[in-house]
Amino acid sequence: MRPVLVLVERDAAGGGVCRSACALLTLARRLGAPAAVLDAPADPAAVALLGRFGAGTVWTGGDDGAGGYPAAVRLDLLDRLTRRLNPAAVLLASNRVGREVAARLAVRLRAGLLGDIVDVRAEPGGPVAVQSVLGGAYLVESAVVRGTPLLVVRTEAVAASAAPAAPVVRRLAGTVSRDRRVRRVGPPGAGAGAHDLATAAVVVAGGHGLGSRQAFDLVGQLADALGGAAGGSHTATELGWCPRRDRIDQLGTIVHPRLYLALGISGSVRHRAAMQHAETIVAIDRDPDAPIFGIADLGVVGDVRQVVPALLAEIRRRRQSATTRPGRRPGSHGPDHDGHRGSPDLPPQHARPVTDDDLTEDRR
Ligand SMILES: Cc1cc2nc3c(=O)[nH]c(=O)nc-3n(C[C@H](O)[C@H](O)[C@H](O)COP(=O)(O)OP(=O)(O)OC[C@H]3O[C@@H](n4cnc5c(N)ncnc54)[C@H](O)[C@@H]3O)c2cc1C
Repeated sequence: MRPVLVLVERDAAGGGVCRSACALLTLARRLGAPAAVLDAPADPAAVALLGRFGAGTVWTGGDDGAGGYPAAVRLDLLDRLTRRLNPAAVLLASNRVGREVAARLAVRLRAGLLGDIVDVRAEPGGPVAVQSVLGGAYLVESAVVRGTPLLVVRTEAVAASAAPAAPVVRRLAGTVSRDRRVRRVGPPGAGAGAHDLATAAVVVAGGHGLGSRQAFDLVGQLADALGGAAGGSHTATELGWCPRRDRIDQLGTIVHPRLYLALGISGSVRHRAAMQHAETIVAIDRDPDAPIFGIADLGVVGDVRQVVPALLAEIRRRRQSATTRPGRRPGSHGPDHDGHRGSPDLPPQHARPVTDDDLTEDRR
């Protein structure tokens, strides 16, 4: 069986393996022998987790030759491994670094690249990818006809399932070649990479309706409470209430989470273009005619500065009662013994390290 390379994303803060890697390994198992690629030394916890999702090999490598720029190291690793192993495919998560690495790798290898993938299957002629296109209006099936297929996957659309293997750890010797080195010209932005909006399963976004930078803190608080990522509308970022990298609009970050909460966002065309394909949209706005309600699954007409604190209090109350109830683990989701939702049954965040609680059954 030919190897299938999976680029592993690690949590910027703690260094743990992110869920996206488990989703990619789940897909890779359908195409060949999954091999995880880590741009850092493999600690035992990471190896064990990657093994549980089917990685037969864990390749490690990387050095400081890229000035701490992650895309350069990962690109170099995948470039060398692809030439050496001739894999059936290379799988990457559809986040900022993953898309950059994939695009540059495609140029280096003169290989075909497919993006916005939500599913894959093996066919005799090679992998067939299901892509979500035209803003999610259509699903199309595509195959790469030249070179190693480079598959960029929307990992939040994939249910990760475990299939234990005992990985062999191999180190790829060598450094990023000098002519390919990246020179750092400034410090990374505060908190850069701490979360990734593009692959988050839960996104809480705030807009002009929050009214002030202080009130905008409610967005982060709600995102934290739901295990999600926080972002803002174009206006919110222009006002400096949230960093520009977290701007959700047509020209900023496009999100497609399972749950999107819009707080005080009117729902302009350019904002909608970036979030309208979220699985479930919840909007809070004081104007019942706000366009965001036209695409919301659930709308709350009210003052966001009153509704959100009430929502936070209710989440805390339910969490509290769930943790004090016998036989229930803290943070566990799903219906309680009354058949009601003891806490919001929220999909797990993808751009965060995986824990035992995250193991799910394959939906297929
Ligand atoms: C020069 C210029 C460039 C632009 N470029 C872009 C661009 O690149 N990308 C882009 O997307 N847009 C752009 N826009 C358009 C604009 O920035 C967008 O429409 C933006 O998405 C609006 O952000 P918003 O929804 O947060 O604010 P608004 O459209 O002002 O909506 C705020 C919402 O909050 C509600 N609200 C107010 N107070 C409360 C409260 N207390 N509780 C609950 N709800 C409340 C209001 O009813 C309203 O619906 C541009 C505009 C200009 C002028």
